[in-house]
Amino acid sequence: MAEAFIALGGNVGDVRANFERAMALLREDGAVLLVGRSSDYRTPPWGITDQPAFINAVIAVSTSLAPHALLARMQAAERALGRDRAQERQWGPRPIDLDLLAYDDVALHDPDLTLPHPHLFERAFVLVPLAEIAADRVIAGTRVGDALARVDAGDIEKLPLR
Ligand code: AMP
Repeated sequence: MAEAFIALGGNVGDVRANFERAMALLREDGAVLLVGRSSDYRTPPWGITDQPAFINAVIAVSTSLAPHALLARMQAAERALGRDRAQERQWGPRPIDLDLLAYDDVALHDPDLTLPHPHLFERAFVLVPLAEIAADRVIAGTRVGDALARVDAGDIEKLPLR
């Protein structure tokens, strides 16, 4: 089994309910087991700022799926939850977005999959929830907690459990 970290985000509809549904879809047959889950965070929109705030979280999974198969399952879950890439702008509103942050220590540069995720270390909305569950994890030579200390996470608000 491999260990992978998946970022969840969205800003349309009941995003926190979408997170629960996405996790259920990922876990459907036992090939993906949930081994960690961050809190949910309210984060300012990135790129296009004239849109509702996002909610972001990170999960850790243990999986028997290879990286591309895991990505395919993530994209199937996005579609099942109403995401239509043809209708959306880059960085625009979306009900759910799932990004594969890291998969063991695999480094990949395929056209459809880059590992670790290329923007992982730039984005406080990913690093804050990731550090909550894996501050000491080293990804591509950088400790997650150290990466978090280098970004501005001031606008990110932890949401209470519901
Ligand atoms: P987005 O619209 O931000 O969800 O980007 C999805 C696109 O990025 C898809 O075409 C994926 O094939 C590609 N992609 C490349 N690397 C990754 C990754 N590590 N996690 C998720 N999507 C990826």
